[in-house]
Amino acid sequence: MITHKNISLFFLFLLLLLVLLNFYTAISWLWFIAIVLIWLGINAIGSSRISSDYHVKAYCNNSSETEKKIAITFDDGPSIFTLEVLDLLKKYDVKAIFFCIGKNIEAHPEILKQIIADGHLVGNHSYSHSKFFDFYNAETIKEEIEKTDQLLERFTSGKINFFRPPYGVTTPSIRRALKITGHKVIGWNIRSLDGGTKNKELIFNRIIKRVSPGGIVLLHDTASHSVLVLEQFLQFLQQNNYKVISIEELLNLNAYGIER
Ligand SMILES: [Zn+2]
Repeated sequence: MITHKNISLFFLFLLLLLVLLNFYTAISWLWFIAIVLIWLGINAIGSSRISSDYHVKAYCNNSSETEKKIAITFDDGPSIFTLEVLDLLKKYDVKAIFFCIGKNIEAHPEILKQIIADGHLVGNHSYSHSKFFDFYNAETIKEEIEKTDQLLERFTSGKINFFRPPYGVTTPSIRRALKITGHKVIGWNIRSLDGGTKNKELIFNRIIKRVSPGGIVLLHDTASHSVLVLEQFLQFLQQNNYKVISIEELLNLNAYGIER
């Protein structure tokens, strides 16, 4: 399996081999640099692709699902737009999961309360969602996860089991932090990129092109254009006989636990 550990061991072995070879015949130093650069390149790809399982196992879909069933996830709230999202979900009788940022829960605790009251699930999406989150050490990441868990668990029926790393980037420090906290990483396989563009047509077409049985959709409850696309998307699902089920049912995992 291509994991950070396996790849690193393999490249270390290659380096040692070159060092040994160097005793018999002069090896150009360019070979050493090339090996390190390839290792760095593989690391960059593995870290930025949540579905690669490079650092951490991430649940990104249910590939054995054959029926038209998908799960919808929202990241980065709670925000003032979450209320519009909740209204739409109610209108179409759809349940979703919200991966919340700790500092946004502190700003909008009443909105988090509403999410839970409406029957949706919640998960942990770090406390700060800092641009530098991927450079944090394991201890800081663990503290962020625990702080956000405490904020969420004031409203949930049990301990938070799901974590979604900011930007979907994983690192060795995140792996070490999660080993202690015990959270499962929930990814996605249908990304709307609604955080990158405001073009509703583009976002909508991007999602519907990728929809397939067992999929997990990533949306954001932080902007008005995302809310407009959501209504279009929910209509599309209805017209195409897609059923939105909870992430728990899709992955056969529990969002909350009594004890970890
Ligand atoms: Zn995010």
